Amino acid sequence: MRELLPAFLDLTDRAVLVVGGGPVAAGKLQPLLQAHARVTVVAPDVVPSIASAGVPIHRRPFEPHDLDGCWYVVAAAPPSVNAQVAREAEARRIFVNAVDDPPHATVFAGAVVRRGPVTVSISTGGEAPALARLMREALERLLPESLVEWTAVARALRAEWRRDGMPMGERRSALLDTLVSMHSEEAVPAANKCWRASAESSRTSAGRLGSVAIVGAGPGDAAHLTCRAAECLSAADLVLYDSLVSPSVLRLASRARLVHVGRRAGRPTTSQEGVHEMLIAAVRRGELAVRLKGGDSFVFGRGSEDLLALARAGVPVEVVPGLSSAFAAPALAGIPVTHRGVSAAVLVLTGHDVERFRALTRSVPSHDLTLVVLMGLGVKALLARHLLDVGWPADTHAAVVLGASRPDGLVWSGTLADLADDDPAHDGDVPGLLVIGDVVRVGRDLRAVSQTFSMNTIETEVCHG
Ligand code: SAH
Repeated sequence: MRELLPAFLDLTDRAVLVVGGGPVAAGKLQPLLQAHARVTVVAPDVVPSIASAGVPIHRRPFEPHDLDGCWYVVAAAPPSVNAQVAREAEARRIFVNAVDDPPHATVFAGAVVRRGPVTVSISTGGEAPALARLMREALERLLPESLVEWTAVARALRAEWRRDGMPMGERRSALLDTLVSMHSEEAVPAANKCWRASAESSRTSAGRLGSVAIVGAGPGDAAHLTCRAAECLSAADLVLYDSLVSPSVLRLASRARLVHVGRRAGRPTTSQEGVHEMLIAAVRRGELAVRLKGGDSFVFGRGSEDLLALARAGVPVEVVPGLSSAFAAPALAGIPVTHRGVSAAVLVLTGHDVERFRALTRSVPSHDLTLVVLMGLGVKALLARHLLDVGWPADTHAAVVLGASRPDGLVWSGTLADLADDDPAHDGDVPGLLVIGDVVRVGRDLRAVSQTFSMNTIETEVCHG
């Protein structure tokens, strides 16, 4: 597609030629006359509306000298004539609007919507005029008739503000305030309402700088969200969320456009760069955008990559920590990740890359420590076997916590040997993690004496000693 420069021509009193005398030429003549062009028509025959338009008409075929002295020509004749006109115009450096002949045209008249002094012109670069017309009809409906008054008010205020030296930065929101206050709620017809809503929403964003909040959504249910996260969601204009974010959390973003950018069928729907572009564009519109991720954004959530990209783009960013599933899921399952005399440290790692898991755990002690493994369900037997190979006792306690804080929550607990042999069934769509270490036994003891945890988890005890 050719890149075109949108512009509006002042043809007042300038010579313009229209070649053709049919209805298409008649349609082109009207706007030229409105623009006060000095039009001449050349055509063997003309329709009555051209004949009565009061312009000079040469009733004969086009001749190249017709272009002499013209600023602009409309070729609305049969194609062979239009091609000739275009050729001759090109040679004389005159812009030509060759109707229905995009390759030979150097001007494309847009589909136009007018409201008093306001003109909106839509172009598809000559590629899809029908689409341009459809868009014009849509805009016709959207733009209120009162745009004429709005323009008058804006013009008057502009003169006033210039005289008083009102700073530029304050003018936009002052104008919106005035326009919005011109319409009482009852008096506004439907199109105006729509216009007014958009004026108001841009007014809210005009008054403030856009920003992004990178928000951790916690392990699942909105009950485990932080207060700050809930505040950000309710104020957000745009929320880009991942697959692990649950509906109860999304419901809090009641006025935002929600866009799922997480994984579907194992593939990300939108690239990191695409996400960053969307966030930056929202900020430039003055919006509050939320990048919402499961758990905590900085725990295997690539939140730091987002932060770097946004900070480099000069975008104001707030980080809202979330409750990571690494700690919340064991807690909801009744498993303390540390316990005096049992575990004095927690190592949170991913099972996503088995080789790195091996490298990282090769020299980790098998006692007084808890391993929490995210993204390791699919390879849990492999991971367990590796730990046995490097000397972890076969009766080390281990648990699988699935869907913590979600209605489908489930805890399986057993030993490392069970985990290596066994393949405790789970629903592939439900997120889950592994807890390995003797704190799992403490959890079992806790669940045996307390009803507190039975609400959140269903336990399938497959424990050997
Ligand atoms: N940033 C997230 C982790 C993202 S990695 C956080 O801090 O929680 C995704 C992994 O998190 C999943 O594969 C799973 O291992 C774990 N996970 C997320 N939500 C979970 C939940 N409700 N219950 C158990 N594990 C969960």
